Amino acid sequence: MDHFLYRDGMLFAEDVAVSEIAETVGTPFYLYSTATLLRHYRLFDEALDGIDHLVCYAMKAASNQAILKTLAQAGAGMDVVSGGEYQRAIAAGVPGDRIVFSGVGKTADEIRLALTHGIRQFNVESEPELRVLSAVAHDMGKTAPITIRVNPDVDAKTHAKIATGKSENKFGIPIASARDVYALAGSLPGIDVMGIDVHIGSQLTDLAPFELAYTKVAELTEQLRADGHNIRRLDLGGGLGIPYTRSNDAPPLPMEYGALIKKCVGHLGVEVEIEPGRLIAGNAGIMVSKVIYVKHGEGRDFLIVDGAMNDLIRPAMYEAHHDIIPVVEPAPGVDQAPYDIVGPVCETGDTFARQRNMPPLVAGDLIAFRGAGAYGAVMASEYNTRPLIPEVLVHGDQFAVIRPRPTFDEIINRDTIPAWL
Ligand SMILES: *Cc1c(COP(=O)(O)O)cnc(C)c1O
Repeated sequence: MDHFLYRDGMLFAEDVAVSEIAETVGTPFYLYSTATLLRHYRLFDEALDGIDHLVCYAMKAASNQAILKTLAQAGAGMDVVSGGEYQRAIAAGVPGDRIVFSGVGKTADEIRLALTHGIRQFNVESEPELRVLSAVAHDMGKTAPITIRVNPDVDAKTHAKIATGKSENKFGIPIASARDVYALAGSLPGIDVMGIDVHIGSQLTDLAPFELAYTKVAELTEQLRADGHNIRRLDLGGGLGIPYTRSNDAPPLPMEYGALIKKCVGHLGVEVEIEPGRLIAGNAGIMVSKVIYVKHGEGRDFLIVDGAMNDLIRPAMYEAHHDIIPVVEPAPGVDQAPYDIVGPVCETGDTFARQRNMPPLVAGDLIAFRGAGAYGAVMASEYNTRPLIPEVLVHGDQFAVIRPRPTFDEIINRDTIPAWL
């Protein structure tokens, strides 16, 4: 459920008409709903009721500080995957002891940064990283709390570009060698082994792969405890999928996911962390765009819109589907016709949808891409010198621009011309 609904024939975000925001901000832009973000966060928080837990929002999904602050004020921690994300979380006021640091390529500088300002834990992904972490922490006279990310070799049955839990993926250490790596971790200075981390992929629409992975993690917990490690925290990753269309089967609910977690690891007396990104932000955001031209081609018609692949790359990158709806509600029973919905970028890949049935639209009409809140704005680029599009946050009957559209001067003046030219 989200808070983007028609009211009196117009699309609203909470209590604000989307067309009113479009008039103020110009198109295209991203629009997020505070109520939806909070609702999704609370669903996870409540799903883990009864066990010691922290929901660490995977901020790579949508990392505007206004979004981070909204979630952090509700109690969320953050999962970061770079030094930049770490600094963004700190800038948004998230305390270091609620930030977990994931990622396969943490540099010594990033590790030092996090140890300086505070960190809940590092999710270590390799033996070389473990050694660097130990050396840096020891050097600073600090102790780095860690989990080690294990790769449970389960098939997440998701798009190949977002599957991370098979042995051929670059993530984590093979679960079969976990005991050796934990033994090494236990012997290194500057390291406090707190627990185990696992994250098998994104947009999972079935609980079975989670169950396989979490069962393996529970077994490993008992083995590692028998080996003498004080395993007291399990980070179970993110990855729960969202409905991208209203027609297809709905993925499992956070409540069912929470029940599965309790079933698999509830008996271990550990603190549980989860790292949902997509489910919190995905359906809490839309991209609003305007029709520039309706072009009648040979055997196919095109809606050419002012949003493009540089603004929302998911269709080009993951063959992703987004529901696309007009901002003015179509009259019931109105005739629909198929269109290819494309942006202005000079790439055939700049196609949001092929032969999508749409009600009649004309140049100047507004449309909304649903489910664009996660992996939307954060993956945008300025390809074709198209400015990064603004982000707007709605809260009840208020809205605020949380990242303005840069001017062309700002973009162009970022280049510096060498003296010899
Ligand atoms: C991307 C990522 C997540 C979030 O995945 P979602 O599918 O957005 O929930 C969580 N943890 C790690 C380590 C990630 O890389």
